[in-house]
Amino acid sequence: MASTALRSVLRTKVPFKIGRMCYSSSVPTTKLFIDGKFVESKTSEWLDIHNPATNEVIARVPKATQEEMLAAVDSCSRAFHSWSETSILARQQVFLRYQQLIKDNIKELAKAITVEQGKTLADAEGDVFRGLQVVEHACSITSLMLGETLPSITKDMDTYTYRLPLGVCAGIAPFNFPAMIPLWMFPMGMVCGNTYLLKPSERVPTCAMLLAKMLQDAGAPDGTLNIIHGQHAAVNFICDHPAIKAISFVGSNQAGEYIYERGSKNGKRVQSNMGAKNHGVVMPDANKENTLNQLVGAAFGAAGQRCMALSTAILVGEARGWLPELVERAKALRVNAGDQPGADVGPLISPQSKERVCSLIQSGVDEGAKLLLDGRNVKVKGYERGNFVGPTIIANVTPDMKCYTEEIFGPVLVVLEAETLDDAISLVNRNPYGNGTAIFTTNGATARKYTHEVDVGQVSGYSLQMCSSVLGERRHSHPSVMSIQHL
Ligand code: NAD
Repeated sequence: MASTALRSVLRTKVPFKIGRMCYSSSVPTTKLFIDGKFVESKTSEWLDIHNPATNEVIARVPKATQEEMLAAVDSCSRAFHSWSETSILARQQVFLRYQQLIKDNIKELAKAITVEQGKTLADAEGDVFRGLQVVEHACSITSLMLGETLPSITKDMDTYTYRLPLGVCAGIAPFNFPAMIPLWMFPMGMVCGNTYLLKPSERVPTCAMLLAKMLQDAGAPDGTLNIIHGQHAAVNFICDHPAIKAISFVGSNQAGEYIYERGSKNGKRVQSNMGAKNHGVVMPDANKENTLNQLVGAAFGAAGQRCMALSTAILVGEARGWLPELVERAKALRVNAGDQPGADVGPLISPQSKERVCSLIQSGVDEGAKLLLDGRNVKVKGYERGNFVGPTIIANVTPDMKCYTEEIFGPVLVVLEAETLDDAISLVNRNPYGNGTAIFTTNGATARKYTHEVDVGQVSGYSLQMCSSVLGERRHSHPSVMSIQHL
């Protein structure tokens, strides 16, 4: 598929180009995807999309009107009748073709992510790749949808359990993974026979539109996926519309708690995957070289804008002496626009986000922590207006400090200390967040103790993996996917 042809379907006015100067009146507009067509919104309300490395306006996204949102959900409802009756093997074929199209266009998708979200091209390819893995998983639907039987439950009676689609499902996505998170949502929902209404983040909608075009090219019938854009009104619409049976949300606690409550009140199933503060416990017997590399990558990769970023390190015993080396490695990371060769850390999504991150760093200083590496005044040549914050390390942090209690969502590692493993476990368990955690050790017994006693959704031996904290089941939200990787 020619990539320019793909883009021209989605945007009409000006060819899409990285780093281009645009003005609001002449920038391309993001389409809605309704009933198999990429359509221009009739709305009078538009939001600017900025390149985070330059703060130039690169596109505009509509706040879809009520009529457009109704048209999108009606399209999903109509398509449900035939799609849910389509054989599983036919649905599987669509996703087999889809995964190939995504593979063929990884670089194109990554470029679109970098220009809107800011992450490095390597991180952006990783974003697509993680989503692709979900699409590949969706292709195993033939075994995933198996039911269960229990013969002779009473005399002359057997029970059969079928897995059946619910109807119209909806997804509300955040800005930090423009490919992976939409791909967590609609492929699994659709391959099971549901139809899907997606609201991508209004800050990074282009990747979702490219993914929708590829899905159409893979043979998904009109109406099986619809895309609307907007902010609160679109979210309220999804929470309230009676045809929508289930909502998947990924994003901040503030929005997630609201959507969980509003959607549940309306009788919908809601999964709300929200904010995080992930701890890495570093034992003195860990492989130092490996541990420091892992810490730097997990704390500062994607500029720390990952729900699975390792934003908090607890150094146990003699591992406390490793701090100077950790700082040296973090200093060596190159801060630059995501599309520049050699960039390790890209910009944050917005000036507001940068301001928030900087003020949380300052709060640590004000509360008595020690700023070992300060990325607030980083200058990036040629990108002076970008939202850059360099790697930052705050040591001597205590559990009552704001930089510890709040999610920072930037390239900031807060460091606490503990005398023993038990002290470290107790610290982690007292923190209200529980997305993921890691322990760095070469001792199998230590790793086992940690995985058994720590109260967090996913535990890793030395590196973090994707996981979600589900509202109401914050802790141990995914015990079945607990991964233990002993060194
Ligand atoms: P966000 O909550 O601001 O936005 C997410 C979505 O909710 C967007 O589509 C947005 O339009 C909508 N929204 C925002 N504010 C709203 C409000 N007040 N009411 C209703 N809807 C609202 O999140 P973000 O800044 O885009 O993403 C970053 C957050 O997402 C971080 O907190 C991060 O930890 C979290 N996150 C969690 C996971 C996970 O799996 N647990 C994964 C990725 C990101």
